[in-house]
Amino acid sequence: IIASQLVVPDEINVSWKDIAGLDHLIQELRETVILPIQKRDLFSDSRLTQPPKGVLLHGPPGCGKTLIAKATAKEANMSFINLDVSLLTDKWYGETQKLAAAVFSLAVKLQPCIVFIDEIESFLRTRTQHDHEATAMMKTQFMSLWDGLITDPSCTVIIMGATNRPQDLDKAIQRRMPAMFHVPMPSEQQRDRILRLILHAEPTAEDIDFSRLAMATEGFSGSDLHELCRQAAVYRVRDLARQQLDQSNDSQQSNNTDSEDEFVDAVR
Ligand code: ATP
Repeated sequence: IIASQLVVPDEINVSWKDIAGLDHLIQELRETVILPIQKRDLFSDSRLTQPPKGVLLHGPPGCGKTLIAKATAKEANMSFINLDVSLLTDKWYGETQKLAAAVFSLAVKLQPCIVFIDEIESFLRTRTQHDHEATAMMKTQFMSLWDGLITDPSCTVIIMGATNRPQDLDKAIQRRMPAMFHVPMPSEQQRDRILRLILHAEPTAEDIDFSRLAMATEGFSGSDLHELCRQAAVYRVRDLARQQLDQSNDSQQSNNTDSEDEFVDAVR
């Protein structure tokens, strides 16, 4: 089960160049997470400069948290385990216990390694007296395995969690994630950059007006922008296909200059 969620650095297909508009965040991740991994001999000397063993990415859905986690692993030459929390919330405590232990042991073998947990709050939310006993035991075990990483200065395994509800995270978990980064909804300028990145290799009109598109997409996440571009591209191809079928052999070269208006139509 775990092997199916594991990617070695060479096979990670995302890097910083696939992320637009988050340069400041990338710079912070370079300093806080990547540099201590690359120069661990220097950082591990003192307890005060230990690399973080927990990193939290928080912000609304579709704004690039998973992209950032993968790109961090790629840039730091780390393996990447995408841990599906539903596997740890099974009621069969014995099984989940073995699985959690196996994940940590695999991560240690592969180190440097990032264990990515999306929607981490669904598993490590604030404990209540209504918690199922198995869930409470699982959380305790998970934290103790995590502490094993924290107390070993030479260990280069990082638990990287993503959530859009950071306030629901157990305080004990928040303490284990000293590096927290907000991944916000993109601003107009960021949307402009994301749209340019998504469309840079696509056949769009030469005079496409990115600032107009960025303005028209207030409230769109990166994921929404990606979906919007996909729909606009499909819209145009469908239109072309229809035209070609209608005109059959007497084909008339369609010109691209309409594509921007069609794109804006799609935005609307
Ligand atoms: P969720 O909380 O729903 O898991 P997420 O924050 O992890 O979402 P991602 O899965 O990283 O979001 O992003 C979804 C898709 O949106 C990406 O595959 C990419 O196509 C696009 N995207 C989001 N943000 C950006 C960005 N800053 N630059 C480029 N593409 C982006």
